[in-house]
Amino acid sequence: MQRFTTIIEPFRIHAVEPITMTTREHRAEAIATAGYNVFGLPADDVIIDLLTDSGTGAMSRDQWAAIQHGDESYAGSPSFTLFRNAIQNLFHFKHVIPTHQGRAAEKILFACVGGAGKVIPNNTHFDTTRANVEYTGATAVDVVIPEGRIPSSQHPFKGNVDLDALRRVIVDAGPENVPLVMVTVTNNSGGGQPVSLENLRGVRAVCDEFGLPLFLDACRFAENAWFIHEREPGQAGRSVRDIVRDMAALADGMTMSAKKDGLANIGGWLAMHDDALAARCRNLLILTEGFPTYGGLAGRDLEAIAQGLEEVVEPDYLRYRIRSTAYLGEALLRAGVPVVQPIGGHAVYIDARGLLPHIPPLQYPGHALAVALFVEGGIRGCEIGTLMFGRHPDGTETPAAMDLVRLAIPRRTYTQSHMDYVIEVVTAVAAESKSLRGYRIVEEPPQLRHFTARLEPIAD
Ligand SMILES: *Cc1c(COP(=O)(O)O)cnc(C)c1O
Repeated sequence: MQRFTTIIEPFRIHAVEPITMTTREHRAEAIATAGYNVFGLPADDVIIDLLTDSGTGAMSRDQWAAIQHGDESYAGSPSFTLFRNAIQNLFHFKHVIPTHQGRAAEKILFACVGGAGKVIPNNTHFDTTRANVEYTGATAVDVVIPEGRIPSSQHPFKGNVDLDALRRVIVDAGPENVPLVMVTVTNNSGGGQPVSLENLRGVRAVCDEFGLPLFLDACRFAENAWFIHEREPGQAGRSVRDIVRDMAALADGMTMSAKKDGLANIGGWLAMHDDALAARCRNLLILTEGFPTYGGLAGRDLEAIAQGLEEVVEPDYLRYRIRSTAYLGEALLRAGVPVVQPIGGHAVYIDARGLLPHIPPLQYPGHALAVALFVEGGIRGCEIGTLMFGRHPDGTETPAAMDLVRLAIPRRTYTQSHMDYVIEVVTAVAAESKSLRGYRIVEEPPQLRHFTARLEPIAD
Protein backbone atom coordinates (compact mmCIF):
# COMPACT_ATOMS: atom_id res chain seq x y z
CA MET A 1 0.00 0.00 0.00
CA GLN A 2 2.72 2.42 1.10
CA ARG A 3 4.38 3.78 -2.08
CA PHE A 4 7.54 5.25 -0.47
CA THR A 5 9.79 3.40 1.93
CA THR A 6 12.21 6.05 3.22
CA ILE A 7 11.81 6.38 6.98
CA ILE A 8 10.63 9.87 7.81
CA GLU A 9 11.26 10.86 11.41
CA PRO A 10 7.73 11.95 12.50
CA PHE A 11 9.06 15.20 14.00
CA ARG A 12 11.09 18.26 13.04
CA ILE A 13 14.13 19.39 15.04
CA HIS A 14 13.27 22.21 17.44
CA ALA A 15 16.49 22.64 19.47
CA VAL A 16 19.90 21.25 18.57
CA GLU A 17 22.83 19.93 20.61
CA PRO A 18 26.37 20.04 19.18
CA ILE A 19 28.37 16.84 18.68
CA THR A 20 32.13 17.23 19.26
CA MET A 21 34.18 15.59 16.50
CA THR A 22 37.28 13.84 17.88
CA THR A 23 40.32 12.11 16.36
CA ARG A 24 41.27 8.44 16.62
CA GLU A 25 44.39 9.35 18.70
CA HIS A 26 42.28 11.35 21.14
CA ARG A 27 39.84 8.48 21.55
CA ALA A 28 42.57 5.86 22.02
CA GLU A 29 43.99 7.97 24.85
CA ALA A 30 40.56 8.66 26.36
CA ILE A 31 39.62 4.97 26.59
CA ALA A 32 43.00 4.05 28.15
CA THR A 33 42.48 6.78 30.77
CA ALA A 34 38.99 5.35 31.43
CA GLY A 35 40.52 1.95 32.31
CA TYR A 36 39.15 0.60 29.01
CA ASN A 37 35.63 0.95 30.35
CA VAL A 38 33.22 2.86 28.08
CA PHE A 39 31.20 3.89 31.16
CA GLY A 40 34.25 5.86 32.31
CA LEU A 41 34.38 8.06 29.18
CA PRO A 42 33.44 11.74 29.25
CA ALA A 43 30.31 11.91 27.04
CA ASP A 44 31.71 14.78 24.97
CA ASP A 45 34.42 12.42 23.72
CA VAL A 46 31.65 10.30 22.16
CA ILE A 47 30.38 11.07 18.63
CA ILE A 48 27.32 8.78 18.49
CA ASP A 49 26.25 7.63 21.95
CA LEU A 50 24.43 4.28 21.78
CA LEU A 51 25.40 3.25 25.32
CA THR A 52 21.77 3.14 26.35
CA ASP A 53 18.29 4.28 25.37
CA SER A 54 17.64 5.00 29.03
CA GLY A 55 16.80 8.64 29.72
CA THR A 56 18.82 9.74 26.68
CA GLY A 57 15.93 10.51 24.33
CA ALA A 58 14.65 13.91 23.22
CA MET A 59 11.51 15.22 24.88
CA SER A 60 8.78 16.78 22.77
CA ARG A 61 7.61 20.41 22.69
CA ASP A 62 4.55 19.31 24.67
CA GLN A 63 6.69 17.58 27.31
CA TRP A 64 8.78 20.73 27.78
CA ALA A 65 5.54 22.68 28.08
CA ALA A 66 4.32 20.14 30.67
CA ILE A 67 7.53 20.79 32.64
CA GLN A 68 6.46 24.43 33.03
CA HIS A 69 3.13 23.18 34.36
CA GLY A 70 4.78 21.13 37.15
CA ASP A 71 3.50 21.77 40.67
CA GLU A 72 6.18 21.33 43.34
CA SER A 73 3.90 20.88 46.37
CA TYR A 74 5.46 18.40 48.79
CA ALA A 75 2.20 16.51 49.34
CA GLY A 76 -0.84 16.12 47.10
CA SER A 77 0.62 17.84 44.02
CA PRO A 78 -1.84 17.99 41.10
CA SER A 79 1.11 16.84 38.97
CA PHE A 80 0.95 13.52 40.84
CA THR A 81 -2.75 13.20 39.98
CA LEU A 82 -1.95 13.74 36.28
CA PHE A 83 0.88 11.20 36.51
CA ARG A 84 -1.26 8.59 38.26
CA ASN A 85 -4.17 9.11 35.83
CA ALA A 86 -1.91 8.76 32.78
CA ILE A 87 -0.56 5.47 34.19
CA GLN A 88 -3.95 4.12 35.23
CA ASN A 89 -5.35 4.97 31.80
CA LEU A 90 -3.00 2.28 30.41
CA PHE A 91 -2.35 0.04 33.43
CA HIS A 92 -5.32 -0.45 35.72
CA PHE A 93 -3.34 -0.99 38.92
CA LYS A 94 -4.92 0.40 42.06
CA HIS A 95 -1.68 1.69 43.61
CA VAL A 96 0.84 3.84 41.74
CA ILE A 97 4.08 4.60 43.57
CA PRO A 98 6.48 7.05 41.88
CA THR A 99 10.22 6.35 42.07
CA HIS A 100 13.24 8.21 40.72
CA GLN A 101 13.91 5.41 38.22
CA GLY A 102 13.24 1.75 37.52
CA ARG A 103 15.81 0.23 39.85
CA ALA A 104 14.37 2.15 42.80
CA ALA A 105 11.05 0.44 42.11
CA GLU A 106 12.88 -2.92 41.96
CA LYS A 107 14.79 -2.20 45.15
CA ILE A 108 11.60 -1.44 47.06
CA LEU A 109 9.64 -4.36 45.60
CA PHE A 110 12.32 -6.98 46.27
CA ALA A 111 13.13 -5.57 49.70
CA CYS A 112 9.47 -6.36 50.50
CA VAL A 113 9.11 -9.78 48.83
CA GLY A 114 12.69 -11.09 48.43
CA GLY A 115 15.10 -12.59 50.96
CA ALA A 116 17.19 -15.74 51.46
CA GLY A 117 15.58 -18.89 50.08
CA LYS A 118 13.22 -17.00 47.75
CA VAL A 119 13.28 -17.58 43.99
CA ILE A 120 12.21 -15.06 41.33
CA PRO A 121 11.61 -16.41 37.80
CA ASN A 122 11.72 -13.96 34.87
CA ASN A 123 12.10 -14.45 31.11
CA THR A 124 15.49 -12.71 31.46
CA HIS A 125 16.33 -10.53 34.45
CA PHE A 126 17.74 -7.17 33.46
CA ASP A 127 21.09 -6.46 35.19
CA THR A 128 19.67 -4.13 37.87
CA THR A 129 16.71 -6.46 38.44
CA ARG A 130 18.99 -9.44 38.97
CA ALA A 131 21.25 -7.39 41.25
CA ASN A 132 18.31 -6.18 43.36
CA VAL A 133 16.93 -9.72 43.67
CA GLU A 134 20.33 -11.17 44.61
CA TYR A 135 21.10 -8.32 47.03
CA THR A 136 18.22 -9.57 49.24
CA GLY A 137 19.68 -13.08 49.22
CA ALA A 138 17.04 -14.39 46.79
CA THR A 139 17.82 -16.29 43.59
CA ALA A 140 17.05 -14.87 40.13
CA VAL A 141 16.24 -17.55 37.53
CA ASP A 142 15.85 -16.90 33.78
CA VAL A 143 13.22 -19.00 32.00
CA VAL A 144 13.16 -17.59 28.46
CA ILE A 145 12.26 -20.01 25.62
CA PRO A 146 15.31 -21.83 24.13
CA GLU A 147 15.04 -19.77 20.89
CA GLY A 148 15.63 -16.66 23.02
CA ARG A 149 19.21 -17.78 23.65
CA ILE A 150 20.06 -18.43 19.98
CA PRO A 151 21.12 -15.18 18.28
CA SER A 152 20.17 -16.34 14.76
CA SER A 153 16.75 -17.87 15.62
CA GLN A 154 13.89 -16.06 13.81
CA HIS A 155 11.08 -16.67 16.34
CA PRO A 156 8.72 -13.64 16.28
CA PHE A 157 8.42 -13.55 20.10
CA LYS A 158 11.85 -14.52 21.36
CA GLY A 159 11.16 -12.88 24.71
CA ASN A 160 8.48 -15.49 25.52
CA VAL A 161 8.63 -17.43 28.77
CA ASP A 162 9.28 -21.19 28.57
CA LEU A 163 6.13 -22.25 30.44
CA ASP A 164 7.42 -25.76 31.26
CA ALA A 165 10.66 -24.34 32.62
CA LEU A 166 8.66 -21.80 34.67
CA ARG A 167 6.50 -24.57 36.15
CA ARG A 168 9.62 -26.63 36.94
CA VAL A 169 11.31 -23.70 38.70
CA ILE A 170 8.19 -23.10 40.81
CA VAL A 171 7.81 -26.79 41.72
CA ASP A 172 11.53 -27.21 42.51
CA ALA A 173 11.64 -24.09 44.70
CA GLY A 174 8.24 -24.77 46.25
CA PRO A 175 5.50 -22.23 45.38
CA GLU A 176 5.69 -20.82 48.93
CA ASN A 177 9.24 -19.66 48.11
CA VAL A 178 8.25 -17.88 44.90
CA PRO A 179 6.84 -14.49 45.95
CA LEU A 180 6.09 -13.46 42.36
CA VAL A 181 6.77 -14.23 38.72
CA MET A 182 8.19 -11.48 36.56
CA VAL A 183 8.07 -10.97 32.78
CA THR A 184 10.24 -8.33 31.09
CA VAL A 185 8.59 -6.62 28.09
CA THR A 186 10.44 -6.31 25.80
CA ASN A 187 13.19 -8.66 26.95
CA ASN A 188 16.08 -6.17 27.13
CA SER A 189 18.97 -8.48 28.05
CA GLY A 190 17.72 -11.12 25.60
CA GLY A 191 17.97 -8.71 22.66
CA GLY A 192 14.97 -6.36 23.04
CA GLN A 193 12.71 -9.23 21.97
CA PRO A 194 8.95 -9.08 22.50
CA VAL A 195 6.60 -11.31 24.49
CA SER A 196 3.28 -12.28 22.87
CA LEU A 197 -0.13 -11.78 24.46
CA GLU A 198 -0.67 -15.51 24.08
CA ASN A 199 2.48 -16.23 26.10
CA LEU A 200 1.48 -13.70 28.78
CA ARG A 201 -1.85 -15.55 29.06
CA GLY A 202 0.11 -18.79 29.46
CA VAL A 203 2.25 -17.26 32.22
CA ARG A 204 -0.93 -16.00 33.89
CA ALA A 205 -2.36 -19.54 33.81
CA VAL A 206 0.79 -20.98 35.42
CA CYS A 207 0.68 -18.25 38.09
CA ASP A 208 -2.99 -19.07 38.77
CA GLU A 209 -2.16 -22.77 39.05
CA PHE A 210 0.13 -21.96 42.01
CA GLY A 211 -1.64 -18.84 43.28
CA LEU A 212 1.30 -16.53 42.45
CA PRO A 213 1.22 -12.85 41.45
CA LEU A 214 2.59 -11.79 38.06
CA PHE A 215 4.58 -8.55 37.76
CA LEU A 216 5.66 -6.94 34.49
CA ASP A 217 9.05 -5.29 34.14
CA ALA A 218 7.29 -2.96 31.72
CA CYS A 219 10.12 -0.59 30.68
CA ARG A 220 9.38 -1.05 26.95
CA PHE A 221 5.67 -1.83 27.11
CA ALA A 222 4.80 0.31 24.06
CA GLU A 223 7.46 -1.26 21.84
CA ASN A 224 6.26 -4.69 22.99
CA ALA A 225 2.66 -3.74 22.17
CA TRP A 226 3.72 -2.56 18.71
CA PHE A 227 5.36 -5.94 18.01
CA ILE A 228 2.15 -7.65 19.12
CA HIS A 229 0.23 -5.34 16.76
CA GLU A 230 2.59 -6.24 13.88
CA ARG A 231 3.23 -9.92 14.52
CA GLU A 232 0.50 -11.60 16.58
CA PRO A 233 -2.44 -13.08 14.67
CA GLY A 234 -5.64 -11.07 15.13
CA GLN A 235 -3.96 -8.02 16.70
CA ALA A 236 -3.25 -5.83 13.64
CA GLY A 237 -6.60 -4.05 13.72
CA ARG A 238 -6.41 -3.11 17.39
CA SER A 239 -5.09 0.09 18.95
CA VAL A 240 -1.77 0.08 20.79
CA ARG A 241 -3.53 1.38 23.89
CA ASP A 242 -5.90 -1.59 23.90
CA ILE A 243 -3.04 -4.03 23.51
CA VAL A 244 -1.18 -2.36 26.41
CA ARG A 245 -4.35 -2.62 28.52
CA ASP A 246 -4.60 -6.34 27.69
CA MET A 247 -0.98 -6.87 28.76
CA ALA A 248 -1.62 -4.99 32.00
CA ALA A 249 -4.88 -6.83 32.70
CA LEU A 250 -2.97 -10.12 32.86
CA ALA A 251 -0.64 -8.81 35.59
CA ASP A 252 -0.93 -7.96 39.28
CA GLY A 253 1.67 -5.23 39.24
CA MET A 254 4.59 -3.67 37.44
CA THR A 255 7.94 -1.99 37.77
CA MET A 256 8.75 0.73 35.28
CA SER A 257 11.56 2.97 34.18
CA ALA A 258 10.08 6.13 32.65
CA LYS A 259 13.51 6.68 31.08
CA LYS A 260 12.46 4.14 28.45
CA ASP A 261 8.87 4.16 27.20
CA GLY A 262 7.97 7.05 29.52
CA LEU A 263 9.86 9.19 26.96
CA ALA A 264 11.36 11.10 29.89
CA ASN A 265 14.91 11.74 31.08
CA ILE A 266 14.26 10.48 34.61
CA GLY A 267 11.57 8.68 36.56
CA GLY A 268 9.86 5.40 37.19
CA TRP A 269 7.14 3.75 39.20
CA LEU A 270 5.94 0.69 40.99
CA ALA A 271 2.28 -0.25 40.63
CA MET A 272 0.13 -3.06 42.00
CA HIS A 273 -3.32 -4.15 43.11
CA ASP A 274 -2.36 -5.62 46.52
CA ASP A 275 -3.22 -3.17 49.35
CA ALA A 276 -0.99 -4.75 51.99
CA LEU A 277 2.06 -4.97 49.72
CA ALA A 278 1.48 -1.39 48.53
CA ALA A 279 1.44 -0.17 52.15
CA ARG A 280 4.79 -1.87 52.84
CA CYS A 281 6.26 -0.49 49.63
CA ARG A 282 5.08 3.06 50.47
CA ASN A 283 6.70 2.87 53.91
CA LEU A 284 10.00 1.92 52.31
CA LEU A 285 9.47 4.61 49.66
CA ILE A 286 9.24 7.28 52.36
CA LEU A 287 12.49 5.99 53.84
CA THR A 288 14.48 5.96 50.59
CA GLU A 289 12.75 7.97 47.84
CA GLY A 290 10.29 10.50 49.24
CA PHE A 291 6.66 11.15 50.06
CA PRO A 292 4.24 8.93 48.05
CA THR A 293 2.99 11.77 45.82
CA TYR A 294 6.45 12.56 44.42
CA GLY A 295 8.72 9.61 45.30
CA GLY A 296 12.11 10.97 44.33
CA LEU A 297 10.87 13.10 41.43
CA ALA A 298 10.07 16.77 40.98
CA GLY A 299 6.47 17.67 40.11
CA ARG A 300 7.69 18.75 36.67
CA ASP A 301 9.14 15.28 36.04
CA LEU A 302 5.77 13.69 36.88
CA GLU A 303 4.15 15.95 34.24
CA ALA A 304 6.77 15.17 31.58
CA ILE A 305 6.13 11.46 32.11
CA ALA A 306 2.34 11.89 31.97
CA GLN A 307 2.69 13.64 28.59
CA GLY A 308 5.26 11.05 27.41
CA LEU A 309 2.76 8.26 28.06
CA GLU A 310 0.34 9.97 25.64
CA GLU A 311 2.98 10.17 22.90
CA VAL A 312 4.61 6.77 23.26
CA VAL A 313 1.50 4.81 22.18
CA GLU A 314 1.05 6.87 18.97
CA PRO A 315 1.30 4.52 15.96
CA ASP A 316 3.33 7.01 13.84
CA TYR A 317 5.94 7.21 16.60
CA LEU A 318 6.10 3.45 17.16
CA ARG A 319 6.22 2.64 13.44
CA TYR A 320 9.19 5.03 13.04
CA ARG A 321 10.84 3.77 16.22
CA ILE A 322 10.76 0.08 15.33
CA ARG A 323 11.45 0.66 11.63
CA SER A 324 14.52 2.84 12.25
CA THR A 325 16.03 0.28 14.64
CA ALA A 326 15.47 -2.42 12.01
CA TYR A 327 17.12 -0.15 9.39
CA LEU A 328 20.41 -0.27 11.32
CA GLY A 329 20.17 -4.01 12.01
CA GLU A 330 19.27 -4.99 8.45
CA ALA A 331 22.15 -2.96 7.01
CA LEU A 332 24.62 -4.68 9.38
CA LEU A 333 23.23 -8.09 8.39
CA ARG A 334 23.67 -7.23 4.71
CA ALA A 335 27.29 -6.29 5.51
CA GLY A 336 27.81 -9.76 7.02
CA VAL A 337 27.90 -8.65 10.67
CA PRO A 338 26.15 -11.24 12.90
CA VAL A 339 23.32 -9.58 14.84
CA VAL A 340 20.53 -10.94 17.03
CA GLN A 341 17.47 -11.63 14.88
CA PRO A 342 14.80 -10.61 14.44
CA ILE A 343 15.96 -7.03 15.17
CA GLY A 344 14.66 -5.91 18.58
CA GLY A 345 12.77 -2.74 19.42
CA HIS A 346 15.22 -0.38 21.05
CA ALA A 347 18.60 -1.69 20.02
CA VAL A 348 20.66 -3.74 17.64
CA TYR A 349 22.69 -6.46 19.33
CA ILE A 350 25.88 -7.56 17.60
CA ASP A 351 26.82 -11.18 18.30
CA ALA A 352 30.41 -10.52 19.38
CA ARG A 353 31.07 -14.16 20.25
CA GLY A 354 30.12 -15.05 16.66
CA LEU A 355 32.18 -12.21 15.16
CA LEU A 356 35.26 -12.81 17.36
CA PRO A 357 35.56 -16.60 17.76
CA HIS A 358 39.29 -16.18 18.51
CA ILE A 359 38.53 -14.33 21.79
CA PRO A 360 37.33 -16.73 24.55
CA PRO A 361 34.25 -15.56 26.53
CA LEU A 362 36.33 -15.07 29.70
CA GLN A 363 38.40 -12.52 27.73
CA TYR A 364 35.20 -10.58 26.99
CA PRO A 365 34.74 -10.49 23.20
CA GLY A 366 31.78 -8.09 23.56
CA HIS A 367 33.91 -5.71 25.52
CA ALA A 368 36.72 -5.92 22.94
CA LEU A 369 34.27 -4.99 20.18
CA ALA A 370 32.76 -2.13 22.18
CA VAL A 371 36.22 -0.62 22.75
CA ALA A 372 37.10 -0.98 19.04
CA LEU A 373 33.88 0.78 17.92
CA PHE A 374 34.73 3.69 20.17
CA VAL A 375 38.37 3.98 19.13
CA GLU A 376 37.63 3.64 15.40
CA GLY A 377 34.50 5.75 15.10
CA GLY A 378 33.62 7.38 18.42
CA ILE A 379 30.59 5.10 18.77
CA ARG A 380 29.76 4.07 22.31
CA GLY A 381 27.86 0.78 22.65
CA CYS A 382 27.54 -1.47 25.67
CA GLU A 383 28.73 -5.01 26.32
CA ILE A 384 25.89 -7.33 27.34
CA GLY A 385 27.69 -10.56 28.07
CA THR A 386 30.28 -12.12 30.30
CA LEU A 387 31.59 -8.82 31.69
CA MET A 388 28.02 -7.88 32.69
CA PHE A 389 26.74 -11.30 33.82
CA GLY A 390 29.76 -13.62 34.25
CA ARG A 391 30.47 -13.06 37.97
CA HIS A 392 28.20 -14.92 40.43
CA PRO A 393 27.35 -14.13 44.05
CA ASP A 394 29.58 -17.04 45.20
CA GLY A 395 32.58 -15.42 43.47
CA THR A 396 32.88 -17.86 40.57
CA GLU A 397 32.96 -16.69 36.96
CA THR A 398 31.43 -18.47 33.95
CA PRO A 399 30.64 -17.34 30.37
CA ALA A 400 27.26 -15.61 29.96
CA ALA A 401 24.67 -17.21 27.66
CA MET A 402 25.71 -14.80 24.89
CA ASP A 403 28.38 -12.16 24.35
CA LEU A 404 26.65 -9.21 22.69
CA VAL A 405 27.35 -5.56 22.02
CA ARG A 406 24.20 -3.52 22.29
CA LEU A 407 23.81 -0.45 20.12
CA ALA A 408 20.84 1.15 21.89
CA ILE A 409 19.00 3.89 20.03
CA PRO A 410 17.97 6.94 22.08
CA ARG A 411 14.37 7.89 21.27
CA ARG A 412 13.79 10.71 18.72
CA THR A 413 17.46 11.77 18.93
CA TYR A 414 19.56 10.61 15.96
CA THR A 415 18.73 10.83 12.25
CA GLN A 416 19.12 8.32 9.47
CA SER A 417 22.47 9.84 8.41
CA HIS A 418 23.81 9.30 11.94
CA MET A 419 22.82 5.65 11.53
CA ASP A 420 24.49 5.48 8.10
CA TYR A 421 27.74 6.58 9.78
CA VAL A 422 27.31 3.87 12.45
CA ILE A 423 26.79 1.26 9.71
CA GLU A 424 30.03 2.37 8.01
CA VAL A 425 32.09 2.20 11.23
CA VAL A 426 30.75 -1.19 12.38
CA THR A 427 31.34 -2.66 8.92
CA ALA A 428 34.96 -1.40 8.91
CA VAL A 429 35.66 -2.79 12.41
CA ALA A 430 34.09 -6.15 11.48
CA ALA A 431 36.32 -6.37 8.40
CA GLU A 432 39.38 -6.19 10.69
CA SER A 433 37.90 -8.32 13.47
CA LYS A 434 40.83 -10.78 13.52
CA SER A 435 43.12 -8.01 14.77
CA LEU A 436 41.01 -7.45 17.93
CA ARG A 437 42.34 -8.85 21.22
CA GLY A 438 40.69 -9.87 24.49
CA TYR A 439 40.78 -8.04 27.85
CA ARG A 440 41.52 -8.91 31.44
CA ILE A 441 39.98 -7.25 34.51
CA VAL A 442 42.39 -5.29 36.69
CA GLU A 443 39.89 -4.11 39.29
CA GLU A 444 36.19 -4.89 39.89
CA PRO A 445 33.47 -4.14 42.47
CA PRO A 446 31.36 -6.92 44.06
CA GLN A 447 28.10 -6.09 42.17
CA LEU A 448 27.27 -4.68 38.71
CA ARG A 449 30.97 -4.77 37.89
CA HIS A 450 30.63 -3.68 34.26
CA PHE A 451 29.83 -0.09 35.33
CA THR A 452 33.11 0.56 37.16
CA ALA A 453 35.58 -2.28 36.46
CA ARG A 454 38.99 -1.32 35.06
CA LEU A 455 40.45 -3.54 32.35
CA GLU A 456 43.54 -3.88 30.19
CA PRO A 457 44.08 -5.38 26.75
CA ILE A 458 45.77 -8.80 26.65
CA ALA A 459 48.99 -8.60 24.62
CA ASP A 460 49.69 -11.14 21.86
C1 LIG B 1 16.40 0.12 32.38
C2 LIG B 1 15.76 -1.08 32.87
C3 LIG B 1 15.56 -1.28 34.23
C4 LIG B 1 16.05 -0.31 35.29
O1 LIG B 1 15.58 0.99 35.13
P1 LIG B 1 16.48 2.27 35.50
O2 LIG B 1 15.57 3.42 35.25
O3 LIG B 1 17.68 2.25 34.62
O4 LIG B 1 16.86 2.15 36.93
C5 LIG B 1 14.92 -2.44 34.60
N1 LIG B 1 14.52 -3.36 33.71
C6 LIG B 1 14.70 -3.19 32.39
C7 LIG B 1 14.22 -4.22 31.43
C8 LIG B 1 15.33 -2.06 31.92
O5 LIG B 1 15.53 -1.91 30.61
